[in-house]
Amino acid sequence: MQTPIPFYLDEILEKVRYQDGGAVADYIPQLAAANPSYLGAALCTTTGHLYSAGDDEEEFTMQSISKPFIYALALQEYGLEEVRSLVGMEPSGEAFNELSLNRDDHRPVNPMINAGAMTVTQLINGVDSGVDERVEHIRKYLSRLAGRDLTIDYQTCDSELEHAERNLSLAHMLRNYDIIQDDAHDAVMTYTLQCSTKVTVKDLAVISATLANGGTQPITGEKILDADVCRLTQAVMSSAGMYDGAGRWMAEVGIPAKSGVSGGLLGTLPGQLGIATFSPRLNTEGNSVRGVEAFKLLSQEMGLHLMATDQRYGVAPIREVEIIDDTAIVRLQGVMNFSAAESILYRLEDYEITAEQVLLDFSQVTTVNRIGRTMLKEGLRRMREAGFKIGVIDPDELIKDRTMRDGTQVRRDDTEDFMIEGEELW
Ligand code: GLU
Repeated sequence: MQTPIPFYLDEILEKVRYQDGGAVADYIPQLAAANPSYLGAALCTTTGHLYSAGDDEEEFTMQSISKPFIYALALQEYGLEEVRSLVGMEPSGEAFNELSLNRDDHRPVNPMINAGAMTVTQLINGVDSGVDERVEHIRKYLSRLAGRDLTIDYQTCDSELEHAERNLSLAHMLRNYDIIQDDAHDAVMTYTLQCSTKVTVKDLAVISATLANGGTQPITGEKILDADVCRLTQAVMSSAGMYDGAGRWMAEVGIPAKSGVSGGLLGTLPGQLGIATFSPRLNTEGNSVRGVEAFKLLSQEMGLHLMATDQRYGVAPIREVEIIDDTAIVRLQGVMNFSAAESILYRLEDYEITAEQVLLDFSQVTTVNRIGRTMLKEGLRRMREAGFKIGVIDPDELIKDRTMRDGTQVRRDDTEDFMIEGEELW
């Protein structure tokens, strides 16, 4: 049985492909040359399963998406108090390059837009670090998050530096108020090189899954950040990650996220997964048009809104797999949401089932949400295609609508043979 998740991602991409509004960023000449039709998506679970669809091998520069991760690194190296003495943690509701500092103490308030982000970058590798050492420290760290050696796009960096008056004026202003110690040109150079780190949409999903996983890279297993740092970073992303559209984003999509002007967009579901999309056309707020639409669909259709109340499953979703004669009974438990269904289908994909019939047993399941039900039914349908007889044990009728994708019904088999012993007593 092949897991249906890449297929779902593909379906989401097809639903947003028709959106051809917006325009590629043109204030960096190299970005203006980007192919506007690229479209890719990826999802990585905190258990290290990576799925992707569309243009998932295409590299693009991280740009602002680097900001939350460098913020996390600064928190890791200095702690919250010290970082907060220089940069606040408020959503400013302003554009990425706003000349914005706190009126009283001249600190930048928002670490997710340029003034705050440049200040944060200047902390990395010690305030006395040279540009090259700081950039290399950042590149190595981002590479560990991605689980592969990332490189820098010097052409894009040079192209941006030729038009960096705005960022230079920000850096001069920060230096004027003693917020940064470095020369303004060096600060902008470092920050621009950081923004020019190249990634694919798969890298972004893995990097964000590391935050969602409390700092342990879910594929390499390396512990990179403390759980507290990940919590703080995701909290800031949730209120300030989407430029001037941050409030509406949290209400509508409900996924802590960060976008960048090259068209990347990533989000984290704490404890569950990281997701990312790539499509270079941007709306007037600077967010990827198709990326925003894809995230809305992912949030709705996969039930990923952070404020939804049925997110966690808490217990392993497969309690046991029992073989009775020619039947394999997969006993499920807890809440069947996206994460639970993903985990079940992933395990079943690998499991060598020798029985003729497979039954999913819902007797110990508490609730099933829409995406959980759809995915489990699709998993069963694929098992039937692979030659198994399929069915559910569903005494509480949690799967009321048993119609599968192809219009056929999942058979319900609540015969006593397959029910859990003693269940009748309750
Ligand atoms: N390098 C870009 C800048 O600072 C990043 C902007 C972005 O992605 O928001 O202008």
